Amino acid sequence: MTDYVFAPPTQPCVKVDGETRLFPVRRIFCVGRNYADHAREMGADPTRELPFFFCKPADALVADGSTIPYPPQTQDLQHEIELVVAIAKGGSNIAREDALSHVFGYGVGIDLTRRDLQQEAKDKKRPWDWGKGFDNSAPISALRKASEIGHPAAGRIHLSVNGAVKQDGDLSQLIWPVADVIAFISQSMRLEAGDLIYTGTPAGVAAVQSGDVLKGEVAGVASLTVNIAK
Ligand code: MN
Repeated sequence: MTDYVFAPPTQPCVKVDGETRLFPVRRIFCVGRNYADHAREMGADPTRELPFFFCKPADALVADGSTIPYPPQTQDLQHEIELVVAIAKGGSNIAREDALSHVFGYGVGIDLTRRDLQQEAKDKKRPWDWGKGFDNSAPISALRKASEIGHPAAGRIHLSVNGAVKQDGDLSQLIWPVADVIAFISQSMRLEAGDLIYTGTPAGVAAVQSGDVLKGEVAGVASLTVNIAK
């Protein structure tokens, strides 16, 4: 038996709808600018760019229904509602045609962003980690198995804050659909079972405040509620 100098950290996990067993998480990949209308609101030209990626630590996950503190060192915490893909089978150079066979299921996530820190990083050509990969920055719903819901390619994706709809799009607007995203990532990094992919957000990202209630939903997949502590 392996001896550690201190107890190893707890395995980050996500609930699976209809299962007592948990999905153990390895890494969190995120796609930047994957809806044209959001790319435009960020001041980018969405037409010709290949997808690009960033990561969050797996222990940034937050379960549905949680209350999280307003994070430090930001005045501009923003929500990004996203379809999340959960990988069950690893691979390198996965063909687009085979990509969906690597998927365990889907969930609804919020890519919480310290937009001011991200913007400062962009301006200074520094990494995005401090704007994207902070504590509690990856709320996620329970996962739905692809064997039960299939592979959603269309359907409303929306998020409300205190009951007011802020983001409202459709999965059919993804510039790079799930199969392409899996293919692209696996060309650069070997995907492994337990990896999650946050697939990008539609337009309407906005700041949230202490005390706000965020509700996100992807039609046919799941919904997610996160409370920002007062
Ligand atoms: Mn995002």
